[in-house]
Amino acid sequence: MDRIGHWIDGAAFPGGLARTGPVWNPATGVQQAEVSLGGASEVGAAVEAAAIAFPKWRATPLSRRTEVLFNFREALSANRRNLAALVTSEHGKTVTDALGEVARGLENVEYACGALNLLKGEYSEQVSTGIDVYSIRQPLGVVAGITPFNFPAMVPLWMLANAIACGNTFVLKPSEKDPSASLLLGRLLDEAGLPPGVFNVVHGDKEAVDALLAHPQVSAVSFVGSTPVAKAVYTAGTGAGKRVQALGGAKNHMVVLPDADVDLAADAAVSAGFGSSGERCMAVSVVVAVGAIAQPLVDAIAARIQKLRVGDGSDPDSDMGPLITADHRDRVASYLDIGRSEGAELVVDGRTHDMPGRGFFLGPSLLDHVQSDMAVYQDEIFGPVLTVARVDSYDQALQLVNSNRYGNGTAIFTRDGGAVQSFQYDCQVGMVGVNVPVPVPVASYSFGGWKESLFGDSHIYGPDGIRFYTRTKVVTSRWPGVGTSRVDLGFPGTR
Ligand code: NAD
Repeated sequence: MDRIGHWIDGAAFPGGLARTGPVWNPATGVQQAEVSLGGASEVGAAVEAAAIAFPKWRATPLSRRTEVLFNFREALSANRRNLAALVTSEHGKTVTDALGEVARGLENVEYACGALNLLKGEYSEQVSTGIDVYSIRQPLGVVAGITPFNFPAMVPLWMLANAIACGNTFVLKPSEKDPSASLLLGRLLDEAGLPPGVFNVVHGDKEAVDALLAHPQVSAVSFVGSTPVAKAVYTAGTGAGKRVQALGGAKNHMVVLPDADVDLAADAAVSAGFGSSGERCMAVSVVVAVGAIAQPLVDAIAARIQKLRVGDGSDPDSDMGPLITADHRDRVASYLDIGRSEGAELVVDGRTHDMPGRGFFLGPSLLDHVQSDMAVYQDEIFGPVLTVARVDSYDQALQLVNSNRYGNGTAIFTRDGGAVQSFQYDCQVGMVGVNVPVPVPVASYSFGGWKESLFGDSHIYGPDGIRFYTRTKVVTSRWPGVGTSRVDLGFPGTR
């Protein structure tokens, strides 16, 4: 059985044997490795390495820091297939999907390569007689990232590229379910010339997270995962005086107005509902069908679902892979009976889909006539279960979107520009797609939801990422000429 250890101070770090977790191949249901679950001692070693590396990395010229990032971008690009294959083997998503994840992660590295520009301060000349004021951005120190299982390459890249570009040193605590991608990132950063200790990986679960949150030398924490854990991490981290951004779960609505193109909307709903087996925080989970389009839309979605090929993600013929674990697959499948018992109509039952007998598979499913008080509507299912809520009007659709406790992503499908303008103005959601079902912002904008999809003030990556990983200092400066100084106890004026 392969053992997966940590990455600390620029080298593999085996870690203790006391606690380990299984790493499955979800497509076969076979355990392929065990990962060492770190605790206070591994976290202590990683934070110490990061703290020692910080002063030198911070003082490294920005041009050299970005040179390392450019090298990393090249190494990552050359290794995108290797990284995607690791993601597929431990997460289960198809190789095409995994390559897409790596490509979106790479965009964040490319954004961070612009740090020379992004870290510019401001300068105001002669704000008072002979006085200039300017602001500078400085790194925070050791920062930590805690990431979910569903994007084992992209979400760490959302964080680490900007954090390192800004001059911080970084400790990543990836999901213990698919730990290997983070180690390849560590090796590629090393190859790119990143000094030891600037990037570290500690594998583990709650114990490692708690140790990071309690560590006095960790200045800031970026978290991405489920809402209950996001809330707990935010509370504990801020309580310990750290800067925290904690992104949580989602229940994304795709509103389809009566004038929408049925085929376009059905293609989008199926792609965004079942891509990565629905294990995406930006997956469409509720199609809100307005008026008479509902039945043709449900028929078009159901017809497309039947054609999806469910199989091993490493098989190029598979459209959809397995779920992450057997437990998660069973939990997701249980919602099909829950939905039916609540009065929804199970139009397509994924349990009967043609799929491999082994592995953590569940075929794509469709529940229609879902009401807002049902558990299948309220809960984040995080699997290949698409639900349809039928409403009579645009206002009812908007009300449904806005009364949901999550506010990560949403989309509207229509040809009506006025409706789009109203929707983008009124919806209580952080990311909005207009005829785009998965509106993940490009790297030069920031990603983040509203309401229970995000705890903290800043979104992740893009300009908010640069702000999150730096703090500003404002300098008020005077270079007096000889003989111009005098004692003055009055409050400093500007005129
Ligand atoms: P999770 O909350 O179970 O785990 C996330 C991280 O927290 C992992 O590293 C895990 O080891 C750690 N963790 C788990 N339980 C913990 C606990 N009790 N205390 C401290 N740490 C703990 O999430 P997951 O199942 O890995 O990922 C899926 C969830 O992440 C979904 O809810 C999904 O919507 C969300 N997600 C959100 C975004 C976003 O950008 N908003 C992106 C991806 C995933």
